[in-house]
Amino acid sequence: MSQSSPLFAPLPRRQTRLVHVGRVDVGSAAPVVVQSMTNTDTADVLGTAMQVAELARAGSEVVRITVNNEDAARAVPHIRDRLLALNIDVPLVGDFHYNGHTLLSRHPACAEALAKLRINPGNVGAGAKRDPQFASIVEIACKYDKPVRIGVNWGSLDQSVLARIMDENASRAEPRDAGAVMREALVVSALESAAKAEELGLAGDRIILSAKVSSVQDLIAVYRDMALRCDYPLHLGLTEAGMGSKGIVASTAALAVLLQEGIGDTIRISLTPEPGGSRTQEVVVAQEILQTMGLRAFTPMVTACPGCGRTTSTFFQELASGIQGYVREQMPQWREQYDGVENMTLAVMGCVVNGPGESKHANIGISLPGTGETPAAPVFVDGVKTVTLRGDNIAAEFKAIVDDYVATRYVRKAG
Ligand code: SF4
Repeated sequence: MSQSSPLFAPLPRRQTRLVHVGRVDVGSAAPVVVQSMTNTDTADVLGTAMQVAELARAGSEVVRITVNNEDAARAVPHIRDRLLALNIDVPLVGDFHYNGHTLLSRHPACAEALAKLRINPGNVGAGAKRDPQFASIVEIACKYDKPVRIGVNWGSLDQSVLARIMDENASRAEPRDAGAVMREALVVSALESAAKAEELGLAGDRIILSAKVSSVQDLIAVYRDMALRCDYPLHLGLTEAGMGSKGIVASTAALAVLLQEGIGDTIRISLTPEPGGSRTQEVVVAQEILQTMGLRAFTPMVTACPGCGRTTSTFFQELASGIQGYVREQMPQWREQYDGVENMTLAVMGCVVNGPGESKHANIGISLPGTGETPAAPVFVDGVKTVTLRGDNIAAEFKAIVDDYVATRYVRKAG
């Protein structure tokens, strides 16, 4: 069945306001934006600028940095300048907790350098300090014309809102369970904070909302509810998703459901990197969620069979992995030179059972020989068998076929 069948298409994107975050648009008909967050000490200008650059080169369209102390606030404009010197003008978002009002007041250059401020209503200030400190940040956002993400998190939920919702729940004829109360408090905290920000003068098209939890089902429920109750763009992300496959699977499970329902305008995958692992993994996962769902295209995708008892060696796995890594490496340059190359599809298959069929569906496919098959690897280009590769040089020859296809098929049109 075709993916274009209405039965299999995502629902239309939810109608939202459009928010400009630096040069990137979020919401309305803009493509779902990929963002990420650094884990360097922001006061380390060089280290943070290098990581932002790495994330941006990997495809992060917005990058968030924590601004947690005076040194970090002082560093922000220098980080921005270093990035501009590298010709990287990715919008930077400042993440503020507890002391954001003070840091932004004392460091106007920090406020000016950022493309967006992220504040968490749950820890903007305790007790009587909460409202004036929230107001102070919103006033600075207005003064520097910066959008604000009001980012609620269940780990730091505004306790006064939670207490009020619990009291209201207790007086109901049929009180809801604790999970429903918590979800309602998350949504109410985000919506009431947005209303307060608008009362303070922040335009409605300068607000993005998020309400993150770490449970897949709770996240889906919270965002479905929030999507019905406002028209602000929504930032999706499963908080504290975890490491490795668990973090990837949980994030994908939650976000895929919401994106399929047309909910979500920007996404961040909160993966815990392996020790020494690259921070860019969260960008790759975000892109792959959007691309495998058919919502956006970032880099050519390789279809590969899982292999089975019919495969004679690990060669086809190495070829599949090698060619996916190769096209990803080439993309920064290809993107500059070739139109539409990100839509190219490749197939690397392990034997004759599904190999030729799957290869014919890709732009370029190769079917490697399985156990007992003739040691030959037919290559299909746009569904037509063009050559059969043999011998020890198959990987290099296949790459050359890919290069040639890219250079001839995706030539940039003049003008
Ligand atoms: S294509 Fe061949 S090698 Fe790959 S999983 Fe299917 S039967 Fe096994």
